[in-house]
Amino acid sequence: MEGRCTCGGVRYRLGAKPLFTHCCHCTWCQRETGSAFALNALIETSKVTLLSGATETVTTPSASGKGQEIHRCPDCRVALWSHYAGMGKGIAFIRVGSLEEPAGCPPDIHIFAESKLPWVQLPPDLPAVPEFYRLRDHWPEAAYVRFKAARAATG
Ligand SMILES: [Zn+2]
Ligand SMILES: [Zn+2]
Repeated sequence: MEGRCTCGGVRYRLGAKPLFTHCCHCTWCQRETGSAFALNALIETSKVTLLSGATETVTTPSASGKGQEIHRCPDCRVALWSHYAGMGKGIAFIRVGSLEEPAGCPPDIHIFAESKLPWVQLPPDLPAVPEFYRLRDHWPEAAYVRFKAARAATG
């Protein structure tokens, strides 16, 4: 899977299938995207390879108070991925809309559903949680093992 910013200056490739994809309805994501929710595919940062250009990182306030480090194109400033303090730098939250084929990463869970906009209808066949959740409760075993390995490698 490959992705890029809007001007095309930054291109990247994912070297593996993402671990799990969040559809986040928190008010922070709503504000940052200017939309109803954010779609983030979680993957080991070590599996993200830059094909061209370089990102610039912008620290943005986050709900935890610890900040979110967003990697953006230095020219068009489009956000490509980010790291949250809670998961560490070893895990990248890929902005699914920046992938060439975003349909390849449908949501696995809806989070912060308590603040979803009233006209958004959640599908009955996917888990939805009011806020966040314990990864082990919803992630497939193989993805959880990969996650633990990435956390162990990067601290
Ligand atoms: Zn760009
Ligand atoms: Zn959010």
